[in-house]
Amino acid sequence: MIIVSACLLGLNTKYDGKTNSYALLQRYSALGKFIPVCPEQLGGLPTPRVPVEISEGTGQDVLLGRGIVQGAQGEAVTSQFIQGATEVMKIVRMFKVTAAILKERSPSCGVNYIYDGSFTHLAKPGQGVTAALLQEQDIPIYSEEDLTEERLKELLSDAEQC
Ligand code: SF4
Repeated sequence: MIIVSACLLGLNTKYDGKTNSYALLQRYSALGKFIPVCPEQLGGLPTPRVPVEISEGTGQDVLLGRGIVQGAQGEAVTSQFIQGATEVMKIVRMFKVTAAILKERSPSCGVNYIYDGSFTHLAKPGQGVTAALLQEQDIPIYSEEDLTEERLKELLSDAEQC
């Protein structure tokens, strides 16, 4: 099975109640190999919710207790982000998860980049909290922006064999 950011599959899990629908992934969803997850909802946050960014460090730093996730007005959600990542790991252990495809730049799901904490749409290198925990647990992570159709077929084939 492959974990996929729920918003990429067309679920309205985004902070503003919208989606980040990604056509390539949606084309293959009927194969039944994707598990949609939204770590922020799994961490107990509502939808819609206040937009937040990692204001100090990266997802790895948050997991190590030295990073902060908060809204522009200082709304603290670090604990919900850690809880969401932990819940995603429970799903990983429940199913035979071979990879994760995650939304780039999200403070939970970003694979190569995350928003830089300035709330100005600028990104910095680093991973979101859930992406960092998945990688720490040796689950291969991919951003939708890095994903070619060929690569996706390979990931689906790997998932099929498990
Ligand atoms: Fe999408 Fe991840 Fe944000 Fe949920 S936490 S809305 S799955 S990017």
